Amino acid sequence: ELREQAQRDSLTQVYNHGYFLARLNQEAQAARENGHILALIMLDIDYFKEYNDQYGHVVGDQVLETMVQAIRLNVKHSDLVGRWGGEEFGVVLPGADTERALIVAERIRTTLASMHLQKDNRAIAPPTVSQGIATLPTHAKDAATLIDLADAALYRAKAQGRDQVRVTE
Ligand code: GH3
Ligand code: MG
Ligand code: MG
Repeated sequence: ELREQAQRDSLTQVYNHGYFLARLNQEAQAARENGHILALIMLDIDYFKEYNDQYGHVVGDQVLETMVQAIRLNVKHSDLVGRWGGEEFGVVLPGADTERALIVAERIRTTLASMHLQKDNRAIAPPTVSQGIATLPTHAKDAATLIDLADAALYRAKAQGRDQVRVTE
């Protein structure tokens, strides 16, 4: 139980950065060796700082948990979910191609938009999320390149107006 807890983010219970990265590397190597595909989605909540400033960190933390619920509702139990940094998350979908990852990412986006949040009995609109996708071996042969490409796609989703999903070019 202790070892299991050490692998997880204490707030959201998804894998922490270190363990997520280790598992992504393992999965990428296994996919390469077995000729399987694997997709990575990187997610970053939009304007989260303003959200925190407006509603406070308790609501901010609630939003992070809500983000994870929106992810969990749309991925398989066997997919890997990790907290990459403050308000950034990663999802590894073993066996998924780009098209499949796009469907999952769009579902996460619309699920988050439909979630209910409140503070002092008043409803608060959930934040939006930007996402970037890259697939192995289509776009990258190793985990490090896959991360870079998904990250660059995420950056484009931000630059092009946020609240959207972009696939690496
Ligand atoms: P962008 O749309 O460009 O992503 O803007 P942003 O405000 O989401 O991005 P930025 O990186 O400027 O801010 C992230 C904020 O996330 C900063 C910090 O206040 C907040 N944050 C990071 N970790 C936590 C946490 O564990 N709990 C809470 N409540 N807030 C956190
Ligand atoms: Mg960020
Ligand atoms: Mg952000």
